[in-house]
Amino acid sequence: SQSELDYPFKLLEYFNGFRVSKVIFSACELGVFDLLLRSQEPLSAQHVARELSTSVDGMERLLDALVGIEILEVETADGTGSGKSLHDMIIYQSQTIYPLWNNMVDAVREGKNQNEKTFGLPAEDIFQAIYRSEEEMLKFMGLMNSSWVLDGHDIVTAFNLSCFQKIVDLGGCTGALACEMAKAYPSSSVTVFDLPQVVDAAQKHFSQENDAVVFQTGDFFSGEIPPADLYVLARIIHDWPEEKCLTLLQKIYDTCRPGGGVLLVEAMLFENRRGPVMAQCFSLNMLVQAEGRERPPSEYTTILNKTGFRNVQVCRTGKSYDTILATR
Ligand code: SAM
Repeated sequence: SQSELDYPFKLLEYFNGFRVSKVIFSACELGVFDLLLRSQEPLSAQHVARELSTSVDGMERLLDALVGIEILEVETADGTGSGKSLHDMIIYQSQTIYPLWNNMVDAVREGKNQNEKTFGLPAEDIFQAIYRSEEEMLKFMGLMNSSWVLDGHDIVTAFNLSCFQKIVDLGGCTGALACEMAKAYPSSSVTVFDLPQVVDAAQKHFSQENDAVVFQTGDFFSGEIPPADLYVLARIIHDWPEEKCLTLLQKIYDTCRPGGGVLLVEAMLFENRRGPVMAQCFSLNMLVQAEGRERPPSEYTTILNKTGFRNVQVCRTGKSYDTILATR
C-alpha cells in the first residue's frame, strides 16, 4: 500500500539495530543465557534478577525484549551448548567491536583504523593492538574459535581436499578450523601455524580433542613457513593491505609444490559490492580495526593469479564465510 511505501520501516529498523545488539550484549554480559542453560527449566524474571543481582524491573524489561526479538526461545530450546559456543563471539562484539565502531565516523573520514583513538594503541601493528593484553588475546581467540562452530564443516567440505596430504593452516589461531579439516580428512596431517603467544594460549586454553592437529610457531611475514600440499588462509587476507597479501601469497607459492594449493576462507562481497550486508559490515570492521578489507571473488582471483596460482575455483556456502581454492 501507499502508506507502507511511505513509511521508512527499513530505515527505522536499521538505525535502531544497535539497540537490538545491546539487548543481546547486556544479557550475555549479565550471564542471563548461562543461567537459563544451567537451570533446565523456565525461571521467573524475579528469580533471574535475584540470581544475577540485578533490579527486577530492569531484568523484566530485558527478558521481555529478548522474547520480543525471538532470541530467548532459541537459547532455551537448545540445551546442547550451542548457545554457549556463541558466548565468546557476543562478548567480543560487546566489549571490543562496539567501542571501535563508536569511532566509525573518523575511520571513514581518515580511511584508517581507530585503535589509537579507541584503545590508545599504535595503528600500525594491528595484532599488537588486538593482543594488547593476555585477556584481550583470549577474547579474540574465543571469537575466532566460535565462528567455526557454525561454518566450519561447510567450509572444509566445500571442495574435496582429500588429495592434499599435508595441510597447514597459516594463522590458524585456536585450531578450530584445523580440527574440522582433520575430522573431514582423517588421512591428511593438519598443522596450525601461528605466532608463539597464540600457539601457547591455544594449547593452554583451547585444547582440542583432536590429536591429529599439531601446532607450530612462527611469523608468516618475517620467517619461513612449513612445507605443505595445501595452505589454508582463513580470514588472513582480509586483515592486510594488498602489498602484504601479495608478499604472503608469493611466499606460499614459492614454498608450495606443483599441484599443491591454497584455500582462502573469507566473507565474500558480491561482484557489484551491494551485499551481502554481513560481508559489507565485516569490510567496515576491517577499516575500523585492521588494515584490510573484504573483497568480491574477482579480486581474490586477481591477486592469486598475480602470484602465479591457477585454477581458481570459488564456492559460496550461503553462510557467513565462503571459500576459494587455487593450485600451483
Ligand atoms: N585463521 C583463524 C580463523 O579464521 O579463525 C584466525 C584468523 S585471525 C583474523 C588472524 C590470525 O593470524 C590470528 O590467529 C593471528 O595470530 C595470526 N597472525 C597474525 N600475524 C601473523 C604472523 N605474522 N604470523 C603468523 N600468524 C599471524
